[in-house]
Amino acid sequence: MNSLDSSLLFGIAAASANVLGGWIVVARREPWDPRLLHGFVAVGAGFMLAAALLRMAPEAARLSGSAPLLILVGYLVVHLFEHTIAPHFHFGEETHPQLFVGSSVWASALVGLVVHSLFDGISIGSGFLVSPALGLLVFAAIVLHKAPEGFTIASVMVAAGVNRGGALGAAFAVGLASVIGVLAAQALSHQVGAALALSTGVTLYVAASDLIPEVNKEEGTLMAVLVFVGVALFYGSDQVLSALGL
Ligand SMILES: [Zn+2]
Ligand SMILES: [Zn+2]
Repeated sequence: MNSLDSSLLFGIAAASANVLGGWIVVARREPWDPRLLHGFVAVGAGFMLAAALLRMAPEAARLSGSAPLLILVGYLVVHLFEHTIAPHFHFGEETHPQLFVGSSVWASALVGLVVHSLFDGISIGSGFLVSPALGLLVFAAIVLHKAPEGFTIASVMVAAGVNRGGALGAAFAVGLASVIGVLAAQALSHQVGAALALSTGVTLYVAASDLIPEVNKEEGTLMAVLVFVGVALFYGSDQVLSALGL
């Protein structure tokens, strides 16, 4: 399978997890247990952090002399779109509906998450352009937070009073951005080092500044321990891929 086919396949799989997360919000009949969502967020945070620091950053530095600067730029781009332009955004269930009454906060949250998701796709696409092993590791890192991401945006839309179709549509739009990101990475394949460096910064932000704060809201130590489980899962996956000769 060439890098376009595999990155598109895995990009669509990641996007489907967004839609699944949105569907959970729209379809639920009884209160959703937030610990399950936070469990995925915690494991995803650990896995993403390890993937960004141990695989993505070194590979980006090998391919591009500007990697350190571009990693910082990637980090700041998410901070700009999710937390500077958007006045209110956080991962997980939206529990501040009063902030959404008569405002367009939902639109800036949607734009922020669409930009972030575009880079999720660029990460997967540039990973596969470097090697199948990197592509698979980046996909695994990203897919763990995709259902919580779809859940997040659908719950923002519900808090803003948008109907179920609109909430699911927002999760679909976030997913579509990842598929477009995969295609953008392919189109920019001559600049794969730069794309990977930007993606590394985005991945660091999502792991350490979006997901970890949600993990830390949970009482008790289980969620905090799951971050280490995510790191161990990354290590195991990396070992399996190299044993397979990928
Ligand atoms: Zn909120
Ligand atoms: Zn994401």
